[in-house]
Amino acid sequence: MDMLRIKQKLLEEPSSQSILVYGDSGIGKTRFAATAAQIPHIRKIVWLDLENGKDTILSMGLSDAELAKIQLIQLLDTRKDPHVMSTLLKMFSSPTDLQLCEEHGRMNCLKCSKEKLPTQTFNLTSLTSHDILVIDTGSQLTDCGVNALLKGQPEEAILPIQDWGTVVNWMKAICQVIQNSRYCNTIMLCHMLPVETYSGTGINKVLQKTEYFPMAGTQAFSRKFGAYFSTEIFLELRGNKHAGGSSTTYKKGVQTKSRTGVRVEDLPELHMKYLFPFKEAVKK
Ligand SMILES: [Zn+2]
Repeated sequence: MDMLRIKQKLLEEPSSQSILVYGDSGIGKTRFAATAAQIPHIRKIVWLDLENGKDTILSMGLSDAELAKIQLIQLLDTRKDPHVMSTLLKMFSSPTDLQLCEEHGRMNCLKCSKEKLPTQTFNLTSLTSHDILVIDTGSQLTDCGVNALLKGQPEEAILPIQDWGTVVNWMKAICQVIQNSRYCNTIMLCHMLPVETYSGTGINKVLQKTEYFPMAGTQAFSRKFGAYFSTEIFLELRGNKHAGGSSTTYKKGVQTKSRTGVRVEDLPELHMKYLFPFKEAVKK
């Protein structure tokens, strides 16, 4: 297909975006992602809530119609009974409807089916370029992978280094689906991982630089994590305002990029409408 035809096709049906937003906790990641509910041509947001972020969404002044667009799937994990990583792997690979209990976000939940508690349906292949899947957060999802491998062990137990490969492979399986963007848009939220580099040793040790990466398990994988996304946004405080950047030259020591050329640092406000612009030719 020639590039002109590709351009015309994209006007008919815009390609899906995959956006990574990372930054310190409390920096406004959840609020920023939830502004997507205010975009008229976004029909549905499936919010995979691993961090119990619903209070933030409820307190940001969204209208009833906007709140109704957000389908919250709460996925709470414990080391005693970890299920979130296996549930997510299934959600990202199954072509059919999955039934998840409302209370735990769990498939085939014994407790909820016994008590006849409500379930909700998820099917990734039913989502479109007018829908957004939010993962809140990728960092917590990595921890759920650790929980799965340390099932039943105490909270202070640490994952042996050789087992990290398994967690990284699970994350890769999910991220590859996001990277292909075949079905819907994705917004992945992440905490940040500061990485310090020193020169010299002992009393001559001097901090050379601090870099910030989206936190996703090992340092090596966190450094590469952004590669799965078409846009990578870093959020921080500027003055006393929540702000951010997305151009590759935004700031030394932070990883940012935007394949669509949106410069978050130049926007009048942090709002997802600038990242999902309406296209005239969008099919209803
Ligand atoms: Zn349940």
